[in-house]
Amino acid sequence: SWLNDAGLQRLLALLGADGEEARIVGGAIRNTLLGQPVTDIDIATTSEPGETMRRLQAAGVKAVDTGMEHGTVTAVIDGHGYEITTLREDTETDGRRAVVRFGRSWQHDAERRDFTINALYADADGTLRDPVGGRADIEGRLVRFIGDPEQRIREDYLRILRFFRFFAWYGHGRPDADGLKACARLKEGLAGLSAERIWTEMRKLLAAPDPSRALLWMRQAGVLSLVLPESEKWGIDGIHGLMAAEQALGWPADAVLRLMVLIPLRKEVVQGLAERWKLGSRVRDRLVAVSQAHGVAPDMATGDFERLLYQGNPQAITDRMRLDIAALGTDDVGAQSLVRLLDHAGSWTRPSFPLSGRDLMALGFDSGPALGDALRTLEKRWIDSGFSLDRDRLLADVPAPE
Ligand code: ATP
Ligand code: MG
Repeated sequence: SWLNDAGLQRLLALLGADGEEARIVGGAIRNTLLGQPVTDIDIATTSEPGETMRRLQAAGVKAVDTGMEHGTVTAVIDGHGYEITTLREDTETDGRRAVVRFGRSWQHDAERRDFTINALYADADGTLRDPVGGRADIEGRLVRFIGDPEQRIREDYLRILRFFRFFAWYGHGRPDADGLKACARLKEGLAGLSAERIWTEMRKLLAAPDPSRALLWMRQAGVLSLVLPESEKWGIDGIHGLMAAEQALGWPADAVLRLMVLIPLRKEVVQGLAERWKLGSRVRDRLVAVSQAHGVAPDMATGDFERLLYQGNPQAITDRMRLDIAALGTDDVGAQSLVRLLDHAGSWTRPSFPLSGRDLMALGFDSGPALGDALRTLEKRWIDSGFSLDRDRLLADVPAPE
């Protein structure tokens, strides 16, 4: 397994030498126990960041300062990044982020983490360390705060969203009652969080295999209307249609598409959300584009559909189609036609127009608006032919320059 990776073993040996200790912690252990893929490996160590940095550099391992004042150094071995964090304990808090200091106690390090399932450690030989009872909660698929939920939320209100995020991914049945109650009671604290932290969590929540139950609980707790008021009037029924379509058609989990069904897709709404959450330009442009895309008629001929893709924004067109299929339901005949067109879009590659301005200049055109007009006329003719006219046929029909 990943634990036997030579690079990882080397790292643990390096950090664990000379009276220091190093263990794997967090998502890697949790996911392994759940039989789910491990994407990144976090390491906890008694060694302080400066010492960690020295040891890595002395061994010729690439080390990057990714937040040394918070205790974090990233080691890169064979292209894999390992986040190495010095043991910490909570001191005080401003509610936006817990304030921590370095420590040497594994118990305290565990206690300042958020949920029991996230506070499991493993030694280099695979020995499991479970200071706060995470193992039993993993088996029960229970997302449970470590310590008093209200107190833990007051230290860092992001933990409200993390509660629902981990519930979406790993929870079974109902969320932990005390945790849920604390989230509902303290939800107003979400207002103080930075946009980046909210979107990062929401994006991970929306990427869960099926986020719909978590979203329902968030709505029930009054949390959803605070983080995503756009969803309030709109309702979240759309998510059920999308989940059904994803299942029936084997679509991959797509956090942004899932966001689309939660909000009214109007340009001003989408732009307001993009600004509030400081969405990156790719996500923002995708949302704005779909808010402006027209639906595709289910009976559209394949040739017309290809022309539409060529002249429009294929991402926006296919996003719009997916939303329409989800809204109609996959039993609907129109939706089934859209599915066929969508499949076609998936195997279609954008043809490239075989002529350029150079070709026309070789025929006596001067560069300028007339050349541009002639080129556009020819491209239109080529599109109308279903992209079938080749270079020679097109050049044979070039209008004479004026
Ligand atoms: P993933 O990487 O899949 O998102 P993860 O559990 O590794 O899941 P990270 O955000 O990488 O999550 O954090 C690593 C660990 O740090 C967590 O498992 C948890 O123990 C701790 N942690 C992260 N964020 C917080 C927080 N806001 N409050 C308390 N502990 C946290
Ligand atoms: Mg992680």
